[in-house]
Amino acid sequence: MGTDNGKAIDPGKCPLCGQGNACASAANEPPGACWCAGEKFPPGLFDLLPPGTRNKACICQACLKAYAARRI
Ligand SMILES: [Zn+2]
Repeated sequence: MGTDNGKAIDPGKCPLCGQGNACASAANEPPGACWCAGEKFPPGLFDLLPPGTRNKACICQACLKAYAARRI
């Protein structure tokens, strides 16, 4: 109850940039169907997430690529 400071977390949006993350599980598809199933997520990427958003919404492919390419 009220643990998210009133901010609704949209599981279909990237917590870093706010764009759609194209997450399969947010679209009620099997998690294995998601694009992220074939990607590697560097542990440091999750350190960039605002507190309370971890495991709530997926990071989008653009942010994953940006992090991998030039470490945002
Ligand atoms: Zn993003």
